[in-house]
Amino acid sequence: MNLKEAGFNSKLIHSGGIKDPLGSAVTPIYQTSTFSFESAAHGAKCFTGESDGYIYTRIGNPTIMDLERTVADLENGFGGIATSSGMGAVNTVYMAYLGQGSHVVCTQAVYGPSRSVLETIYPRFGVEATFVNTADLSEIENAIQDNTKLIYLETPANPTMQITDIVAVCKIAHKRNIPVCVDNTFCSPYLQKPLDLGADIVLHSMTKFINGHADIVAGMIVTKTEADFKKLRPIMINLGCNMDPNQAFLTRRGLKTLAIRIERAQANCIKVADYLENHPKVAWINYPGLKSHPQYELGLRQMSGPGAMISFGLKGGFKAGEAMMNNVQLALLAVSLGGIETLIQHPASMTHSKLTKEGKEKAGITDELVRLSVGIEDVEDIIKDLDQALGKV
Ligand SMILES: *Cc1c(COP(=O)(O)O)cnc(C)c1O
Repeated sequence: MNLKEAGFNSKLIHSGGIKDPLGSAVTPIYQTSTFSFESAAHGAKCFTGESDGYIYTRIGNPTIMDLERTVADLENGFGGIATSSGMGAVNTVYMAYLGQGSHVVCTQAVYGPSRSVLETIYPRFGVEATFVNTADLSEIENAIQDNTKLIYLETPANPTMQITDIVAVCKIAHKRNIPVCVDNTFCSPYLQKPLDLGADIVLHSMTKFINGHADIVAGMIVTKTEADFKKLRPIMINLGCNMDPNQAFLTRRGLKTLAIRIERAQANCIKVADYLENHPKVAWINYPGLKSHPQYELGLRQMSGPGAMISFGLKGGFKAGEAMMNNVQLALLAVSLGGIETLIQHPASMTHSKLTKEGKEKAGITDELVRLSVGIEDVEDIIKDLDQALGKV
């Protein structure tokens, strides 16, 4: 059966296609740093690419390749490049497309470190960045310069849940031959396929939904074309932000249940969003599954579901946020997202507490904002927990 034409769930289970000579049902962990060649001539061919034999794990490894092929299949891309972390993927993309004298246009409310490296490290190499509200297409048009070499989007954005129209941005970018990269961490390919919407590169923190069990840090880049793949892969290899075979094995195992995990978490999240929207201590809520989301229609168009991430504001601001955090019992008070357990955090007192008021504003962090990643527990228990914590606010 040609897996390229198979459904998403079949790909989740069967993609990868590394044939184990002993017939193992699961691709084994090839826990080795190096691979022996059959002969000097074979070794030479591996290096020139005439033979696709393995050389050295930083360059490639069957366990890692199994995962790379699988995620590439799920994203309908040409190839996957696994990295040690999501930030490994982000930096590999920046390094491949940006250099002395170049400029990048980036979503304003992007994942914190994806922004801060552009502000603190890349300027040393002559790279300039403009952060805009990419939900407003005119802001993108106005930010593009003659030296713009990359448009970098995150949608829905973290933690505002603002949605960027991928199709529309790609039209603007491609008229000027600028590649578009989308951080698809919040959706996973189960809910959104940026390459099908026109993007050139998609990346993930697989730490989140793709692995889904809060026991791995990992990243992945998928390209639409062979040319972009060939541009990116040597950067990952030479930066040394490769994945480890053990990490690849666990991530591949977690990935098998992506669809059923997201279905359950999303069903829970829809009920939790309904509950929060009607709670008297909740000032506002951002969730793409609610009609009150300002881009509800766009979300329906480019995502196949609203996902399992909510941000909401508490009446009572900073103190209310702190009080709620100190009283949750089932939800873990923790950063990260996309795992099977419900996670809650209050950015103003936790992740973003070191930022100045202005810095918080830039990142879309207000004092009352709470971020919730809904897990797969019994939804009655999640709501009961939120209810008793809100009762103490
Ligand atoms: C977590 C995250 C990252 C960074 O990934 P790591 O695996 O922690 O390095 C990048 N983008 C988004 C949207 C994330 O949530």
